[in-house]
Amino acid sequence: MQWEFPGGKLLKLVIGDITRVPADAIVNAANAQLRGGGGVDGAIHRAGGPSIMRELDEIRARQGGCPTGSAVVTGAGNLPARYVFHAVGPIWRGGDRNEAELLASCYRTCLALAEERGLSTISFPSISTGAYGYPVRQAAEIAMQEVCRHLQRPDTRLREVIFVLFDQATFEAYAEALRQRAPVE
Ligand code: ADP
Repeated sequence: MQWEFPGGKLLKLVIGDITRVPADAIVNAANAQLRGGGGVDGAIHRAGGPSIMRELDEIRARQGGCPTGSAVVTGAGNLPARYVFHAVGPIWRGGDRNEAELLASCYRTCLALAEERGLSTISFPSISTGAYGYPVRQAAEIAMQEVCRHLQRPDTRLREVIFVLFDQATFEAYAEALRQRAPVE
């Protein structure tokens, strides 16, 4: 599924493995310790190779971990990308612990990092909806809101944002959230 914004900018939703989809930046759903983990984080380190963790070791030595809602940047090792943006999503604690704003902040931070670097394409997984337990429909609404808002701006250098969703149910939630936002044809 894809949606075209003025100027030909595209928002794409696909089912798949984010480590196999070329993009200028691949977003990782990392943890605040930046130490790697399961899920998409594990897949990114396995496919990208050890150079990514070496760079994270240096970042950790300099600044400790990464605050929730923010992201740090490394190279992409063997991945089909130039950068990995390691975004730290919120752990779902029932919804009254600022989770929505923290999740929105992950997307905004990554989009800003891409713009600063003049990138054309960025890919996202469904941040926080695996081990971190964020309800997928709500997470999808936030993700689509932030990305649509960004691509509607006339001054973006980003041309394409791709959500690489790992399973059908997650894909359906994002597709529904996008349909809710997209004007009826
Ligand atoms: P979090 O801790 O932020 O919840 P997870 O990695 O546990 O992160 O899950 C986030 C989402 O990423 C889930 O929908 C999970 O199914 C998905 N996922 C796992 N592996 C991959 C992969 N290789 N490519 C894309 N998405 C993946």
